[in-house]
Amino acid sequence: VSHTFFIQPTYQCALNCKGCYVKESLQNTEVSSEILDSLIRYLWVTEKFNVGQVTLAVDDVPDDAVVAAKMISALKTALQIQQVTSGVEFHITINSLRTLQKYIDSGLPLEYIASHSDLISISYLSPADIPLLKLIRNYTKVNYNYMHSKNLHLFREMLDHVDMSYYLLYKTGLAKQNDFGAIDVFKQGLREIGSWNPSEKAKVKVDGCVQDARKFLKTGFGCSSNVSRFHIWPDGHVTGCAYNKDGGIPASTLTGIVQNISVAAREYEFKRCTIPGDYSGRSSLRIIQG
Ligand code: SF4
Repeated sequence: VSHTFFIQPTYQCALNCKGCYVKESLQNTEVSSEILDSLIRYLWVTEKFNVGQVTLAVDDVPDDAVVAAKMISALKTALQIQQVTSGVEFHITINSLRTLQKYIDSGLPLEYIASHSDLISISYLSPADIPLLKLIRNYTKVNYNYMHSKNLHLFREMLDHVDMSYYLLYKTGLAKQNDFGAIDVFKQGLREIGSWNPSEKAKVKVDGCVQDARKFLKTGFGCSSNVSRFHIWPDGHVTGCAYNKDGGIPASTLTGIVQNISVAAREYEFKRCTIPGDYSGRSSLRIIQG
């Protein structure tokens, strides 16, 4: 099974989005820019883990010059190594198209970023973004990471201009009680999407954790966190679940981070996942899992 890695370079994104799981998580000293770049190069070439996909969280660059340089360097490093190797899919996640501006200002042209990324996931889109989306889709695929709140009109409109879209559930964090209001809104939205035409529905991918929770209830098999999916946090600690805010042991060296991946591979955080129970309305399931 090929492994998927998600790298979160910094806790200091310039944005302050409500419910940001990075800002809400445990925070220790961040790894240096040099170690982060080494980690990125390592993931592309190592034979220790069967790396099939790496996602870099390309957050809005903050004003702090040291952090800004680190984030720009991380993206630059990933794009460079992606250019000269094959076998690893490179994905980036961004908040909105504006996020890319400081990277472009630092000398990474939009076309360069897009043509060496296999997927760009964007959290916020509006009709004003349509011309730029058209340009980007000449070079790569675009995913819209959409979290439903009020109505689905805008989401439906923007579906035409992206290749796919994850329809996401708001998550409170691993082992935490879920927001039942958010689950209701999510389910209502799902019913509405169910009535759309097939070409629209084909682009919508249901939140991976919800899909895994449904699968677990049917088959008893949980999600791939800690098995083939790992999340590397800014302080070098590693979790399987992206929503595990409690964290593990920080690391400041490449050896330490690699060791943390091996330690995380011996855990199975899904055992503490509250989504199967809360989503199905059978919260008592949590006791069985815990
Ligand atoms: S344990 Fe798996 S299914 Fe549960 S929240 Fe984490 S990634 Fe999602």
